[in-house]
Amino acid sequence: MKIAQRVASIAPSPTMEGAKKAKAMRAEGKDVLSFAVGEPDFPTPENVIAAAVTALEEQKTKYTNASGIDELKAAIVAATRRTIGVEYDASEVCISNGAKHTLSNVFATLLEPGDEVIVLAPYWVTYPELIKLYDGRTVAVLAGGENDFQPDIAEIADAITDRTVAICINSPNNPTGGVLTEQSIRDIAGLVIENDLTLISDEIYKEILFDDREYLSPAGLPDMKQRTIVVDGVAKSYAMTGWRIGWSLAPADFTKGLGSLQSQQTSNANTIAQWAGVEALTGPQESVQEMCREFQTRRDYIIPALQAMDGVECAMPAGAFYAFPDISAYFGRTLGGRRINTSLEMTDYLLAEAWISTVPGIAFGAEGYIRISFACSMEQIEEGVRRLEEALTSA
Ligand code: PMP
Ligand code: GLU
Repeated sequence: MKIAQRVASIAPSPTMEGAKKAKAMRAEGKDVLSFAVGEPDFPTPENVIAAAVTALEEQKTKYTNASGIDELKAAIVAATRRTIGVEYDASEVCISNGAKHTLSNVFATLLEPGDEVIVLAPYWVTYPELIKLYDGRTVAVLAGGENDFQPDIAEIADAITDRTVAICINSPNNPTGGVLTEQSIRDIAGLVIENDLTLISDEIYKEILFDDREYLSPAGLPDMKQRTIVVDGVAKSYAMTGWRIGWSLAPADFTKGLGSLQSQQTSNANTIAQWAGVEALTGPQESVQEMCREFQTRRDYIIPALQAMDGVECAMPAGAFYAFPDISAYFGRTLGGRRINTSLEMTDYLLAEAWISTVPGIAFGAEGYIRISFACSMEQIEEGVRRLEEALTSA
C-alpha cells in the first residue's frame, strides 16, 4: 500500500526495536538480557495503583478537557514549584500521552518547513525523527564525553542561522547520563535570549540525579521562562512508563496551540492515568528517592566494571540510568568470527552471540559507542557484564 514519504522516511525507534527483538528471542526460548530500553524495572508505587483503582471505582472514565484535568494541572504546578522552583499557571500546562507525545506536539506547534533546531548530541533517538516529521531540520552540536558532556558554546553560536528557531537540551541526558553544568545552562540561555530563540528543555530525568546534585532548570533563569518549553512526565521518576502521562510547561499562547492540536488529534490523555498522575505527584515521594539511590548503586557497579574492560572507555554518568561506553577500539577487529566496524555491527554481534540487547551509538548521533540501560536488576547487570566481557575477548 502507498505510504506517504513523511512516514516512509521515519526510522522506527531503535530503543523500542531493541526491546522488541529481545522479547522475540526470549519467546524462542533464548535467555536474552535486555539492556535496550530505558524503562525502570521497579513496580509502579502502590499508592499510585490504588489511586487508579479508585478512579475506576468512581467512574472517572469519561473524556476530560483535551489539555487535561484541572487536578493534574494543579499537581504539576505544585510539583514544578517543589522540584525546579519555577511558578507556573494552569494555563501554561498541557498534559499529553507521555513526554514523547508532548515533544511531537511541541515540534508540530513550533516548526515551519525548513526551520532548524539545534540539538545537542549525543541525543535521544526521537528528536531528529520528530523534527523531520514536521519538516524541520536537526542541526547537531556535539557535547561529548571528552568535554564531560558540556557543549562548546562557540560551536552552538556558529550553528545558529536565520532559520534557527530553537535549541533542544536534555539534562540528565539520554543516552550519556551527562548533566549540563550551571555555566553551560547559563551560556545556552544567553544565546537563546540574544538570538530570540526558544529553548526546549527535556527534563524527564531531572529526579534521577546522583551524588546529591541539585537540579537547575533553564526556565528558572532571568528572562527565560517565557522562552522555554519544559517537557516532563511521570514515566521515569515514578516507574510509570506504560501509563503514558507527560506534559509541557510553556507560555499560555503556545500552550493554547498545543491544546487545540491535541483536541483534534488525540483528545485527552487517558483519564484514569491522569488521576494516577495526581497521586504520583502529590502523594509520598520516598519511592522517587529510593529508586534514585538504587540507580546510583547500579551505576557504581556497572561503570567501573565497564572501565576495567580492555578497549572500553566509559564516562561516569551524573544522572539518568544509561552507560554509554566507547567501544570504537574494537573497530577493525574480529570478534566471534565477525569483523566489527560499526556500533550496529557490535550490537548485532552482542545480541546474536552473547544474548545481550543494547542500542548502537549511531542511533544517538554518536558512532563508536553503545548504550546500556541499567534500569534493570543488579543480578541482570552482573550477568550482563560477565557476558559482555566474554564476548569482547572471544576472537
Ligand atoms: N525524553 C527522553 C529523553 C526520554 O528518554 C524519553 C523516554 N521514554 C522520553 C522523553 C519520553 O518519555 P515518555 O515515556 O513519557 O513518552
Ligand atoms: N526513552 C526510552 C529509551 O530511550 C524508552 C524508549 C522510547 O521511548 O524510545 O529507551
